[in-house]
This record gives sequence, C-alpha cells and structure tokens, in this order.
Amino acid sequence: MRLVLLGAPGAGKGTQAKKLVDKFGIPQISTGDILRKAVADGTPLGKEAKIIMDKGELVPDSVVIGLVKERLAQDDCKNGYILDGFPRNTAQAEELDKVLSEMNAPLDVALSVDVDKNDLMKRLTGRRTCRGCQQMYNIHFSPPQKEGVCDKCGGELYQRDDDKEETIKNRLDVYEKATAPLIDYYGKKGILKSVEGVGSIDDIFNRICTILGY
Ligand code: AMP
Repeated sequence: MRLVLLGAPGAGKGTQAKKLVDKFGIPQISTGDILRKAVADGTPLGKEAKIIMDKGELVPDSVVIGLVKERLAQDDCKNGYILDGFPRNTAQAEELDKVLSEMNAPLDVALSVDVDKNDLMKRLTGRRTCRGCQQMYNIHFSPPQKEGVCDKCGGELYQRDDDKEETIKNRLDVYEKATAPLIDYYGKKGILKSVEGVGSIDDIFNRICTILGY
C-alpha cells in the first residue's frame, strides 16, 4: 500500500503512521523526522533546515524532494510506504506523481486526518517526543507513565523547538495556505479518503483500518 497521510500539524499523522507501520510492516517516511535527524547530526543540510523549521516555514521543495526520492528508492519501500508530512504543497505533490509514474507505482490512497482547528493548538503545545525512539506523547491527552520518560524505551522526552507557541501559529497558517489545497488535489484524482481524527488513538486507528478496507 502506497499511502500519503494528510492533515494539519498536530492532527496525529505521526502517531497513526507508527501504528500503520506495526500493522502493515511498511515503512513510515516522515520528512520532518529525516530533517530533525539532520539537525541533530549537525549536517550542513541540518544547520540550514533548523533556521527554517524553527520559524515554522517550509524547507525548500528541492531539498525535501531530493530526500524523499532517495528514500523511496530503498529496498524496504518495495511493498509500499506511508508518507507522513510530504507532500506539503502542490509543487511537491506534482513532483511526487512524476517520480511515482516513472517507477510505475502510483499512490493508492491519500488519507486526510481531520481535526478541528481549536483542538490543534492544545495538541501541539502538549506534545512531547522521545529522543530515543520518536514515540509521541501528549501531556494533556496521552501522558507517559513517568513524567519526562518514554514508556517504550526509557528515553528522554522533549518538546520540539517548533512546538513552541510562537512557531505553532505560523505552522498552522502555512498548513492552511500551502498544504490544505492538497485535499482538493487528491480529491480530483479520486484517491482521497478522510478520517475524523478525534477520540482515542486506538479509535482513530480502527476507523482508519475500516476506511482502508482492513
Ligand atoms: P513535521 O514534523 O512534519 O511537522 O515537520 C516539521 C518541519 O519540518 C516543518 O514545519 C517544516 O519546516 C519541515 N518540513 C517537514 N516536511 C516538509 C516538507 N514536505 N516540505 C517542506 N518542509 C518540510
């Protein structure tokens, strides 16, 4: 299954992507995670990206498209993948279509995770991520058993720099302007499905499985 997850920052795409990985055994390709790793590794790309990410802006298309192309060519993507956070605008979506049509492997589904705007802010400010395994928590809705410590691997939980309040507003604006039009884009292609992203993580996941026909 070749799947794109759409949705505003904080809609829970990453959390659901990880559950889909476990169920279907296909990789999650998160451009945000790839960029954060480059930042943590201190590569030249990471240094350049951090400045943009901290402002809540989008990293240049040519950079992310290059990263995704490289990732899609890897062996573990042969049976499908979950794209999480890519594409982020129409130019990226068109380039992805071009690459996939050259590979003769078009997308199967674009799944939009829909969450009310007012809920997004609380979700984003409460979000904490594990430094070790990237597992996500929310101090309001799904806290870890021990504050600041990952239930899964014992790693340290941290708040992403771009989950601070000033940056979040900009990220939501960028989403509205650049990314939300993709709902129409995939709707016109006839591969759009939508899921209501409210309720418990498991409830949402069950809905997704039903929508995907599993
Ligand atoms: P995310 O974890 O998907 O919310 O991404 C965090 C940040 O990484 C975004 O706010 C952007 O600055 C950058 N980023 C991630 N994916 C993309 C993309 N497809 N295009 C441009 N910038 C991206």
